[in-house]
Amino acid sequence: MTTLRAGSATHVGQVRSNNQDSELMVGDANLFGVADGMGGHQGGEVASAMAVELAREHSSERTLEALKQAARVANRAIFEKAGNDPDLHGMGTTLVAVQLVDGPEGDEIGWINVGDSRVYLLRDDELLQLSHDHSLVEDLVRDGRISRDEAKVHPQRNILTRALGIDLDVNVDSGSLLPLAGDRYLLCSDGLFNEVSIDQMSAVLRRLVDPDEAAEELVRLANEGGGRDNITVVVVDVIDDDGRAAAIAEAQAAAIAAAEAKEAAERAAAEEAARQAALAEQEGDLEPAAFAGRRSSLPEADDDYGAEKDDLYADLERVRARRFTWRVAAFLVLLLLVAAAVVGAIYFSQSGTYHARVEGDVVNVYRGEDGGLFSRGAQFQYAMRLDVDDIPEPYRSDVTEGIEFASLQAAREWEFNVSDAIEQRTTTTTTTTTTTTTTTEATTTTTEATTTTAPTTTAPATSIPG
Ligand code: MG
Repeated sequence: MTTLRAGSATHVGQVRSNNQDSELMVGDANLFGVADGMGGHQGGEVASAMAVELAREHSSERTLEALKQAARVANRAIFEKAGNDPDLHGMGTTLVAVQLVDGPEGDEIGWINVGDSRVYLLRDDELLQLSHDHSLVEDLVRDGRISRDEAKVHPQRNILTRALGIDLDVNVDSGSLLPLAGDRYLLCSDGLFNEVSIDQMSAVLRRLVDPDEAAEELVRLANEGGGRDNITVVVVDVIDDDGRAAAIAEAQAAAIAAAEAKEAAERAAAEEAARQAALAEQEGDLEPAAFAGRRSSLPEADDDYGAEKDDLYADLERVRARRFTWRVAAFLVLLLLVAAAVVGAIYFSQSGTYHARVEGDVVNVYRGEDGGLFSRGAQFQYAMRLDVDDIPEPYRSDVTEGIEFASLQAAREWEFNVSDAIEQRTTTTTTTTTTTTTTTEATTTTTEATTTTAPTTTAPATSIPG
């Protein structure tokens, strides 16, 4: 069950001699309102009192239409009374009211407005003006001819464009809202909002929980601000709404949670796609993250898969177009540098060495090699002054098997050593004999070795134990 609780306060203010405002407080019918009368010595008081009284009398039906009808009835009654009583001639009144009414889907807060009193709603700490002033300054503000601040001090700010009691008939503004626990309606005469800023009003309504205390504090602030008019404030709280606000909050929380879960899933999918793309790039696959991301979020069954596929192919084309990036260029440059270094190393290793070749009776020295990788071929350097037949061992083996020299100087030294060896052999006979002896000894040794390891030979039996 929807439950309302209301509080109110009214004050004559600091300037006026009487209070022509009236408050409407009908707890049984959940009907609350404010009327701000005007005209004549007593007229304003009479008009506002008539408005709230007639609204009370027509409050039992509990529909928004009935509430509007009550305002029209009051208008006609005030209009007629003003016409019939010269003392009350020209009287009229504003009227704002809220009532808990039956709507098409259950309880609603219906509100009505005629004149320049106001209905505000404080919801989620925000104060929103629901009604629209029927005043000359409001029209000027709406037309852009004066500012909101200028309207507050405009000399004609009390001139109304609509009120109860002025014409035979009246248009009544109205609206309705779902009652949510925590909602706070503020109804007031212009004596409040011309003296107190909306921020001040909002702060008081947020701070003071008790509606009577809030209403009294607002009236006090209006008096403090000047009190140049009568001040009336009614505060209506929705304190129970049949769990409506909780259900809405729950639905909102569920919607937020679902949205957050969806966002988290999308973020995780994007991160996974980026990870896969980085992996693919490491493995030499140049498919970028953009395409991988698209692939990992393949369209739902009810999506336009064809169009999505076209997008994928378009992405693939862009991927191919983008393959020659600066990164690829840098890689190619690096590759060329490495290749040049390898070729250079091979070239210098081949062309930097020398070797000797036996050609006919002579020994020729060449630089480099024939047929090697990147080789320019062996370059002839010079012919050694050696007769091949004269070269003794082990130099002869060296040169016939192919000897290499690290430098030309090394080749020259080898040549001098060979020349020395040839010279010594041909000039000293003793040396030759010694050499022969050595050779014989070597042969003997070889024979002994053969005897030992080959028992089938005709070796003496002494070698076998008797
Ligand atoms: Mg007033």
